[in-house]
Amino acid sequence: MAPAYKRILLKVSGEALAGDNSFGIEPQFLQEIARQIADAAKSGVQIAIVVGGGNIFRGMAGAADGTDRVTADLMGMLGTMINALALSSAISRQGVKSKPYSAASMPSVADTFTAREAKASLEEGYVVVLGGGTGNPFFTTDTASTLRAIELECDVVLKGTKVDGVYSEDPMQNPHATRYDTVSYDEVIGKNLRVMDTAAFALARDNNMPIIVYALNDEAGLAGVLSGTSRSTRVGKSN
Ligand code: UDP
Repeated sequence: MAPAYKRILLKVSGEALAGDNSFGIEPQFLQEIARQIADAAKSGVQIAIVVGGGNIFRGMAGAADGTDRVTADLMGMLGTMINALALSSAISRQGVKSKPYSAASMPSVADTFTAREAKASLEEGYVVVLGGGTGNPFFTTDTASTLRAIELECDVVLKGTKVDGVYSEDPMQNPHATRYDTVSYDEVIGKNLRVMDTAAFALARDNNMPIIVYALNDEAGLAGVLSGTSRSTRVGKSN
């Protein structure tokens, strides 16, 4: 069966790489994520990945401890590069070509991201792994995911979380919260449903980029999301 999407943007949070730990990279989780990504790539879908860095450093936490926010965010962005190198290498070990890119110039580490070059790599069959977020402080890798998806003309953003979609309230706090199958950008923003930050949703809304929210721990993994068989929520235009 032909894949449902030609090109996707997958957000891999730092949390997903840390596995059961709160810090660093858990090799088993890294390998499992890389395997799922490689399998999806082998099925013919072009994959761009934006990696987070919360498993290494978060700017907000650094700023709270007294580091100025711009410096703290630079540290956070460097953390995402560590994850990008680890994930790109792990995908290559699964037998699929992968290339890391950095939003900030660090030529001895990775090529600097340009949409033109990343798109060419995608067309050549590389899984591109984008580190460094947007390259700017005061943003998150969620916003970077939406931005890169738009720049790279992806069909959709896939955002894995701890729960299987967007709920009317935080399901960890209220067990009676209900899950949406589809929800509009305006509702997610208006109700402050906090699955991604507001800037990410606003950018997606203004450029009509759909976002699918699914559970990272779903047994069917990425394949289940791509085939539409797993539970998830699609955030898009209102009907
Ligand atoms: N960051 C940034 N600009 C960006 C993306 C990320 O300054 O465009 C910094 C910010 O300090 C953030 C850290 O990098 O806390 C790690 O990214 P994020 O928190 O989005 O990672 P995740 O929660 O997905 O692991």
